[in-house]
Amino acid sequence: MIGTVRRCRFCGGSAIVNLRYARLSLCGDHFKEYLVKRIGDTMRRYEMVREGDHVLVAVSGGKDSNTLLHILHALSGELKLRLTALHIDLGIGEYSDRSRAAVEKLVSELGVDLVMIDMDDDLGLTIPGLAESHRRRKACSICGVVKRYVMNRVAKSVGADRIATGHTLDDFVQYAVKEFLVQNWDQLLRITAVSEPLDGLAPSRIKPLAEVTERETLIYALTAGIPFYHEECPYSERRTMEYRIKEFMNLLESDHPGIKISFVRKYLKRVGRIGVNIEVEGTPPRPCKVCGMPASGDVCSFCKLVSLALGANEGRTKLGELLKRLDEASKT
Ligand code: SF4
Ligand code: ZN
Ligand code: ZN
Repeated sequence: MIGTVRRCRFCGGSAIVNLRYARLSLCGDHFKEYLVKRIGDTMRRYEMVREGDHVLVAVSGGKDSNTLLHILHALSGELKLRLTALHIDLGIGEYSDRSRAAVEKLVSELGVDLVMIDMDDDLGLTIPGLAESHRRRKACSICGVVKRYVMNRVAKSVGADRIATGHTLDDFVQYAVKEFLVQNWDQLLRITAVSEPLDGLAPSRIKPLAEVTERETLIYALTAGIPFYHEECPYSERRTMEYRIKEFMNLLESDHPGIKISFVRKYLKRVGRIGVNIEVEGTPPRPCKVCGMPASGDVCSFCKLVSLALGANEGRTKLGELLKRLDEASKT
């Protein structure tokens, strides 16, 4: 049997994508238009931004966050946003080199301001180096602390009102299902599309791709010719519970189209707005005694992590220099 060619619902041209959950086939141009509109609608529905906001967009060089920057750029006139991109070069060999190159190419094509934090050059640290000095800790947990800290610090330094990250619907599903399975209710309630700012300590975080799948960001990136690096970080692991949940949910989605989006929509509608910048369950954040950034105890996770890597005795002095260099790098 000869297969039928699907037609775009809007122009009748040949469709490149069939969104089963929405029963919608679209050509490349109409898919791009559709996704930009959908993300704009999500941002309005969850009141992610206000007119005139300065948004710091965290871009890793992968398809999700590079697509996010491209789409926020397309929406920036209509939503009246000022954008600054932030990339952290983690110092993970070829993975970091190629991710950084993709970000540099994209921002130069879009003409968006870029803050580049090169961990090795600007801080004298790298993720492999930190993982080496904290052998009992997973590299991804160290990387999470560093990224969260740098995002908050750079946002403060450039005066950003919001930090936008490229978390997708698939990320939401896998985190939420995992926290449900391990019965971690505090963490589960912190999975939101938009968080309130922490009084003077950190701006609001927004996740405009909360209702967009990774498949959709990939199709958008390929159709729009967005540069991105597609290889996985050498530290990423496939045997984690999150990864298995993702595989399972994709299997479920193929039998029950729309189950992922309906889960996330209903979940976000009920959870509402809760501060998610908090580091540890239940403790209200306060300024770190060393650096003034959000902490759940006296000293924040970043200062503890870095002091240990720099050496207990000299830690404090070197840490002060390092934070100064970080602030200087944010301004370039
Ligand atoms: Fe960082 Fe882990 Fe992601 Fe690699 S896989 S970039 S180490 S969080
Ligand atoms: Zn079309
Ligand atoms: Zn600190």
